[in-house]
Amino acid sequence: MYDENCIFCKIAKGEIPSTKLYEDDNCVIIKDLNPQAPVHLLLIPKDHYANICEMSDDQAKTLAACVKNLSNHVDEFGLQDGFRLVSNKGENGCQSVNHLHIHILGGEKLSDTMC
Ligand code: AMP
Ligand code: ZN
Repeated sequence: MYDENCIFCKIAKGEIPSTKLYEDDNCVIIKDLNPQAPVHLLLIPKDHYANICEMSDDQAKTLAACVKNLSNHVDEFGLQDGFRLVSNKGENGCQSVNHLHIHILGGEKLSDTMC
């Protein structure tokens, strides 16, 4: 599904510019505009759904394949020493864009206070 009011739908379609490091039929991986770590990427499924509570079984399978595929790009993205995956949901999770996305953080030893 495409939501015309959603910034990540527009990014996934190329209607809003982004630094796209990877793209396939199911997802894109872009650089976060406001990086919180030396490497801060966003894995964004092309299909619009807000979070895992709204995802279908098919969307779950597709997202799992996208995450698995990340393992093929670890060196290329500068994540060979490790990384963290985070997906914020809702108000308490501080989600600001209501299109599911997974933050990919790395490039240095990350804080262990919230992991
Ligand atoms: P969250 O707060 O978990 O919903 O994360 C949203 C993330 O999207 C934040 O880290 C923002 O910096 C990032 N972001 C928002 N707009 C853009 C954009 N146009 N291009 C790249 N990253 C963005
Ligand atoms: Zn969307």
